[in-house]
Amino acid sequence: MSYVMNDAASFADESADGFVAAHRDLVRRVRGGVARATATPPGQVAVVIGGGSGHYPAFAGLVGPGIAHGAAMGNVFASPSTQQVVSVARAAASDAGVLLTYGNYAGDALNFDQAQDQLRAEGIPCQTVRVTDDICSAPAGEQEKRRGIAGDLVVFRAAGWAAEQGLDLESVAAVAARANERTRSIGVAFSGCTLPGADEPLFTVPPGTMAVGMGIHGEPGIETVPMATARDLAELLSSRLLAERPETAGGTSKVGVIVNGLGSVKSEELFLLYGALVPLMEQAGLTIVDPEVGEYATSFEMAGLSLTLVWLDDELEQAWRSPAYTPAYRKGTVELSTVATALAPEEAASDVEAIAAASEEAAAAGVQVLKGLDAIKDVIDREADELGRLDAIAGDGDHGIGMQRGARAAAEAAAAASAANAGPGTVLVQAGDAWADKAGGTSGALWGLALRTMGQQIGDAEAPAAGAVAAAVSAAREAVQRTGKAEIGDKTLVDALVPFSETLAALTSERRGLAQAWAEAAAAATSAARATADLLPRLGRARPHMEKSLGTPDPGAVSFALAVTAVGAVLDAYDLKEN
Ligand code: ADP
Ligand code: MG
Repeated sequence: MSYVMNDAASFADESADGFVAAHRDLVRRVRGGVARATATPPGQVAVVIGGGSGHYPAFAGLVGPGIAHGAAMGNVFASPSTQQVVSVARAAASDAGVLLTYGNYAGDALNFDQAQDQLRAEGIPCQTVRVTDDICSAPAGEQEKRRGIAGDLVVFRAAGWAAEQGLDLESVAAVAARANERTRSIGVAFSGCTLPGADEPLFTVPPGTMAVGMGIHGEPGIETVPMATARDLAELLSSRLLAERPETAGGTSKVGVIVNGLGSVKSEELFLLYGALVPLMEQAGLTIVDPEVGEYATSFEMAGLSLTLVWLDDELEQAWRSPAYTPAYRKGTVELSTVATALAPEEAASDVEAIAAASEEAAAAGVQVLKGLDAIKDVIDREADELGRLDAIAGDGDHGIGMQRGARAAAEAAAAASAANAGPGTVLVQAGDAWADKAGGTSGALWGLALRTMGQQIGDAEAPAAGAVAAAVSAAREAVQRTGKAEIGDKTLVDALVPFSETLAALTSERRGLAQAWAEAAAAATSAARATADLLPRLGRARPHMEKSLGTPDPGAVSFALAVTAVGAVLDAYDLKEN
């Protein structure tokens, strides 16, 4: 639990402000996270890391010479939004492009991938390396599905070193990918953590036992075993990692080692474990290079630890041994004065785009879009508690608050755009970006993407015809499915979105008016959302109690149906006025 707090909702932001205040010489606050206090020199790739808050020093504590150039900082245990990643990457990038590297979690992958698309579209070259070191999170043949834990440090160090050697983007990505390929971790949990403001721990471990391979957010592990001595624990962890020696490691006998504390297992215990590991590594014929024993990726006060091995080659050894100077990780000597010129804080804050005024007809359509978004905000405000209750049954209970944050921000951004006489496309794009930026969670990213996609499709040239609206909804549906990878039947908002989109397309192609077609499509979405009660979820963060959701409809599908129904009511008024 948190002893020091003002308000749970602003915990992550206020903590980040304090962190920056404490490390002004090294980092500056930028929208979405932090960047180095100094500009990235021309010709140097910027390494941008990130993830949810609650894992310090991951991620902001690892920004500085020798490691990262910027960190996107999401809410507590929630991925940063696409906009946050884009904004940090813009602030950190020079002319040589950006490497995005982060632990492989569904929400992070979704948002960082969208950020990559957006950065490339802006002309900023961008590559991605996801960290997949946790051997317990997927079998050996499916390494790309594994999660990232303390092995983050190895990959971030390799990327930062390669970037500072002046390598080009492809080569920096190749070094980071090789570091990831050769890094393996295994964790063990003794007890869970309680998020700021929560009454109950997020997850628990039965007393007297340890959960081998349990994830840092309580994701299920591979087995729960009785507590062991340090010697037996060292044997258990190292034998599992040694059994997974990467094929690409060849004959190397050098390994980097990290003993990482997850929160409340402190230094003396970690050293005890390290001491027990040393003879085991010797017996395996391995030479330890620069061991790290401490906290590198944590989970609030979770009791647990992890062991990481990286099988080094010459280049990776050089990277692993290289100097670094960040708020949380310091090694060797870094000449800060030679790094680059300091930046004025304002220089980072100017990424607001100007809004172009559209024709009178298009601006009037923009006003209709604003009305629709206002209607969504109102219905979500009314239903937020109920949506939270539905999400708490099998999820994490944040769907109501997340939707509320998103819908409010979208309506506000739409109002600003519409006041500047923006056309319908721009109003939707601005609303979508604001939604994704403020909502957090999986649904926030997908709603933001859907609105942005509709906006891009509709454009600002004129007031869109009914068929064009249906085509924009189809494009949004396709983007949501391409990005979230959910199919019908997976118990997600896709179960309501698909019948909505199909009904709208079918009826508008029969030349039915938009208001009537929309109302029937919304009715189809509502019954489809209700029918998700009978489904079992298959996607999203693995939750131990998925069967609990049987009999309860999917919160994302329900909120989607509520939203489109509310829009239908204002469209109705629009059509009547036009006729
Ligand atoms: P989080 O799951 O990150 O806590 P929310 O609680 O806001 O986010 O949203 C949960 C909803 O998101 C689910 O009810 C589901 O409808 C939707 N969702 C989750 N994963 C996906 C996905 N891959 N594709 C489409 N919708 C999804
Ligand atoms: Mg949720």
